[in-house]
Amino acid sequence: MKKKKVIVIGAGFSGLSTATELADKGYEVMIVEKNEQAGGRARVFKEQGFTFDMGPSWYWMPDIFDNYFARFGKKTSDYYTLKRLDPSYSVILSDSEVVDMPADYDALRNLFESIEPGAANALDRFLEQAAYKYKVGIQEFVWKPSVKITEFLSLRILVDALRMDVFSSFYSHVRKFFKSDTLLKLMEFPILFLGAISQNTPAMYSLMNYAEIKLGTWYPMGGMHLIVKGMVDLALSKGVQIEYHAEVNGFAIEGGKVKGVKTSKGVFEADAVVASADYHHVETLLGEAHRNYDEAYWDKRVMAPSSLLFYLGINKRLPRLKHHNLFFDRDFSIHSHEIYTDPSWPSDPLFYASTPSVTDPSVAPDGCENLFLLIPVAPNLEDTEAVREQYFEQLMDRLELYCGVSIRDAIVYKRSYAHQDFIGDYHAFKGNAYGLANTLMQTAILKPSLKNRHLKNMFYTGQLTVPGPGVPPSLISGIVVAKEVDKLLK
Ligand SMILES: Cc1cc2nc3c(=O)[nH]c(=O)nc-3n(C[C@H](O)[C@H](O)[C@H](O)COP(=O)(O)OP(=O)(O)OC[C@H]3O[C@@H](n4cnc5c(N)ncnc54)[C@H](O)[C@@H]3O)c2cc1C
Repeated sequence: MKKKKVIVIGAGFSGLSTATELADKGYEVMIVEKNEQAGGRARVFKEQGFTFDMGPSWYWMPDIFDNYFARFGKKTSDYYTLKRLDPSYSVILSDSEVVDMPADYDALRNLFESIEPGAANALDRFLEQAAYKYKVGIQEFVWKPSVKITEFLSLRILVDALRMDVFSSFYSHVRKFFKSDTLLKLMEFPILFLGAISQNTPAMYSLMNYAEIKLGTWYPMGGMHLIVKGMVDLALSKGVQIEYHAEVNGFAIEGGKVKGVKTSKGVFEADAVVASADYHHVETLLGEAHRNYDEAYWDKRVMAPSSLLFYLGINKRLPRLKHHNLFFDRDFSIHSHEIYTDPSWPSDPLFYASTPSVTDPSVAPDGCENLFLLIPVAPNLEDTEAVREQYFEQLMDRLELYCGVSIRDAIVYKRSYAHQDFIGDYHAFKGNAYGLANTLMQTAILKPSLKNRHLKNMFYTGQLTVPGPGVPPSLISGIVVAKEVDKLLK
């Protein structure tokens, strides 16, 4: 019997995940990808002996990656070798106050206790609750397609929702355990990954602290792109066909169904379509009659931040920098106000510096440093070369002061990346980097639906639908939607 055909738009984590799952279930699957390589926001480029991962640099929740490959009878180690980082990361609170987060839990307890008496036991209690949230959140909640409210209407789930602290904020939750500013900063950092401030983030996301502290910060030797390479190899081994340089520019629609996908390489017929490209962009290609949400809806969404990024090749080693460095030496309330409340270029930003060459000699020539800088900024800002340069100078001043050496004169490669690039490369709505913020009003059933309401064989996956932004959720999103496609087609 002829296999039913599914077209997946986009070869990022969610697209690769859904394609592999569907191919494994026996469908003929083709991915159409506009760019020249897979990975989406996690693409890679090489210049002058440096290997730059373009997006994700934090490998958290190793169990999700392990489970992903295990679904298909594989192990993570079949594709890459993981190293646990110790310290997990370094937090620069001021030039003289730097906290290195130890990977070892007892050492971390001691560190907490030295900052605030009683904090070690408070950490135990905090993480005990967070462990429960991780278990229920990651093993159950994130696997729900969230298309019907009835999925959540059981007594057990309602009890769980209360125990999960879905309705209180992370901000007030964490303050029940810790008082010191330093500890609050350390505990609030992981939820920044969710793209919202702690006042607007449900306390359930203390599961991120569990992930960070108990499950650890890891790094695939060679670079984060090896995860993508592993996923592509696995997809191809299942028979998935990937068409690169195939930009989708419209759909063939007939009788309430998508019949095919129009691309720069021609029209491809399909029994079902899964769009992993940015949700809003796909909606514009579908047109008024077939999209799920109008522009007014999208305009009201709280987007996670965009980013101003710099990829730098440095021809010497940089003292003091660890693999992950968080420069939290400025007032976060001002910076977050400039991201969320009054979107504008930040006056004096916090930033993140990643130096993977500290762990992995393969990503830079001998004696050199691979430096990736990230400033979280509001989406939809006017992004010009002059603005980028102004921030570059600011970061150089701060880094040179912190490292105690000159850096500008050691730069042998430099590339910047911001809103215009996110739009040009990924059709990112308002130039967003991380999709939608995980606020309470944008959780589960309240997120953009993974099903199209007008076209019964059209689906969405990825960081703008359930369960949310980040690499592990994108992997899960792909599997969740594949099950829905299978329910329709089988
Ligand atoms: C700078 C940065 C740092 C990050 N750091 C981390 C981190 O440390 N840890 C973590 O877990 N997460 C991190 N993230 C988030 C993570 O990278 C994303 O959540 C995840 O990669 C999203 O995957 P996706 O499949 O939903 O979307 P994408 O990666 O955007 O994939 C969508 C694909 O669709 C393609 N596409 C778009 N339009 C079309 C079209 N018309 N036709 C064909 N193809 C199209 C795009 O080219 C792209 O390949 C980071 C993101 C960024 C940007």
